[in-house]
Amino acid sequence: MIPEYSEYETWYHETRLAAVAKALEKRAFHSTYAASIDDARQALLDTIPVDATVGVGGSVTIREIGILEELEKRGNSVVHHWKKEIPLLESREIRQKEGRADYYLTSANAITRHGDIINIDGIGNRVAHMIYGPDNVIIVAGYNKITDDIDSGIKRSKNIAAVMNARRVGSKTPCAETGQCSDCNAPARICRVTSIIQYRPWQTNISVMLVNAHLGF
Ligand code: SF4
Repeated sequence: MIPEYSEYETWYHETRLAAVAKALEKRAFHSTYAASIDDARQALLDTIPVDATVGVGGSVTIREIGILEELEKRGNSVVHHWKKEIPLLESREIRQKEGRADYYLTSANAITRHGDIINIDGIGNRVAHMIYGPDNVIIVAGYNKITDDIDSGIKRSKNIAAVMNARRVGSKTPCAETGQCSDCNAPARICRVTSIIQYRPWQTNISVMLVNAHLGF
């Protein structure tokens, strides 16, 4: 968008994200706002202690922010399974290790205006770790993840996030060809576990960083 008009778009998303932040706080989540991807990366670096271990869920958002390289550069131990050369069994061990880290970084497939956090997983490690794994979970979400309600959040999770992820990993599912979810019964179906976190689970410090940028799927 040309600068003359971009201020209105910035204002629009900022205003909507502020309302979502309030809704999240009402649900006992901690919520922060970042005006840009650079601000988000810096805020994460300021929040996560340099000696903390960091587990990372499968998340395009987290990679787009460029935080993993920065954490590793300054000495944080970062555990993540998104390495093509890792065999499946080892990948399971790595996923389990992610859940024992001090901090867990991930995004969400959708966050409703009322503060519901929605995800659909194929394995379930991400949703498990968000609910009961590391003591500290930071969810980073761009404005494109905000939906009106749970129904539209689930639709977004399937018709946008899952479809693009199926294509990304080369799944043999109908959506990876058509770009549409058909609620398939394919053996390779990637949508197997749906979680809706409606209030912060008692024993997990979940903080949601809302970013004024389009991030991830
Ligand atoms: S077609 Fe199957 S794998 Fe693809 S989004 Fe729908 S349920 Fe998930």
